[in-house]
Amino acid sequence: MAKLTVAEIAGADAETVTRMSRPEVDSFALQAAEMVRRFANQVAADSSNSSRPPSSDSPYQRDQGGKAVCGDGREAASGEAKPATAPQTAPVIPQGEKKPEKPSGKRPGMPGFWRRQPIVVQGEVAHRPGECGACHATLGADKPSRLVSAHNVIDLERGDMALQISAKKHGFFAVRCDCGHETIAAPGTGASSRIESRKRDLLLNERCLVGPMLATFIAAMAVRMRLSREKIREFLLDWLGLELSKATVNRCIHEFGLASEPVVEELIAAVQSAELANLDETPWYQKGKLRWMWVMVTATAVIFRIGSRGKDSLAELVSEAFLGWLVTDGYMAYRNYPRRQRCLAHLIRKAVALAEGYYHNGSGFGRDLVRDLRRLIERVAENDPPNRDDKTHKAIKRLIARIKWNCQCNQYDIDAKVRALAREILNDWDAIIAFVMDPLLPATNNDAERALRHVVLARLIGFGTRTDEGSRFYAAAITVVETCRKRKVDPWAYARDLIAAARTGTPHPKIPAPSAA
Ligand SMILES: [Zn+2]
Repeated sequence: MAKLTVAEIAGADAETVTRMSRPEVDSFALQAAEMVRRFANQVAADSSNSSRPPSSDSPYQRDQGGKAVCGDGREAASGEAKPATAPQTAPVIPQGEKKPEKPSGKRPGMPGFWRRQPIVVQGEVAHRPGECGACHATLGADKPSRLVSAHNVIDLERGDMALQISAKKHGFFAVRCDCGHETIAAPGTGASSRIESRKRDLLLNERCLVGPMLATFIAAMAVRMRLSREKIREFLLDWLGLELSKATVNRCIHEFGLASEPVVEELIAAVQSAELANLDETPWYQKGKLRWMWVMVTATAVIFRIGSRGKDSLAELVSEAFLGWLVTDGYMAYRNYPRRQRCLAHLIRKAVALAEGYYHNGSGFGRDLVRDLRRLIERVAENDPPNRDDKTHKAIKRLIARIKWNCQCNQYDIDAKVRALAREILNDWDAIIAFVMDPLLPATNNDAERALRHVVLARLIGFGTRTDEGSRFYAAAITVVETCRKRKVDPWAYARDLIAAARTGTPHPKIPAPSAA
């Protein structure tokens, strides 16, 4: 028997085989076995046994078997054999995680890094107390004063079509009042993030070499432009002639994250009254361990959160107070939510897989489903505003009936994949056709998926975050940036005010309302 094509083997049914002679059946069986072997090998190929990149591996597989990751106690036990001379600067590693061979950062005893560049100061800023601390009398410029402390601040000035780095000396003065009391001006201190047994906690402070606009610029390069700390350092030195250490760069990015956290809490509280929210999630890695990046998109906010894939993470974004509509994919955590629109794009993709694969009658079912679902989306879009007596309305009713009937006919198909899709649609029927009745609802989850694009690219470039704190800060920072972008307001002017307020401990400015532009 001649060599059979994939289509001939996969397309064969009982009738084809019965018509074959014995030698033909033997040859058919051998060729089919060979084909199954070849495909099984292809399916089993991953980054560990082929030239495929690790990014093509399933995230679940990576979480279990990968060398970089460990979720159980086995690897941790071997990690306990850490030398007694281990530096105290070692980052805190949660229980059950493999310890890295070397902690990040400088080895103890190695020479430190400091600026080789002298700071050329272009001006001075005097900070004088405005009123007496004892009698509250106004302290004029004529009162005797002395300089108590001073520090240099390098900041970025943002002009029209211009960026300029400038350094200023900030002097803090003590002023004596007529009553005899001396009031001392001091740099403010603000928000802090403390983690036990960490050598140096993050404490926001006005006495800082990097001014709020420059800190914002550095944070923008990290969270929006997806540059690594090292690349940002290189950029500042090569293009602005500014030498900052990687630790300083990192601090600026963390300052923005910490300053953004209270804004995110406010946004989450505010979106509970939204009419419509798109939700989606994508894998995220924290020190190689699989986490999930969730996104919730409403008309005026884009909120990110890194957590587990469970219902608890979902509940952090969508509380019981949320009464609006959710647009989601088919993930089970969403299923018990009553007012829900299922993303049709996901179902169409599954139907395309059936249509293009070898599923006998199932392929025809897939083709019909792709056609009918696409047509349904088009018809509903045409039917806006809905008109019950319209011809389009009747066509929509016919389409819905046909989709349902098709699924009912195929829910007992011999092929598991065909059966599964038919049942999935029937089980989630109300969520699939919700958008037909409500013109407010989109048929797909594109808004949330588009919001995740940025995060997916950041994950591919930066391999995720390393600590719980880093994950929280990153999610908070991109929430502020994306929400500002959604509202068509300048994220960076707001971020600057946010950092400046967090450094002095004053209440954070409100996130600007959507701009009309
Ligand atoms: Zn006084």
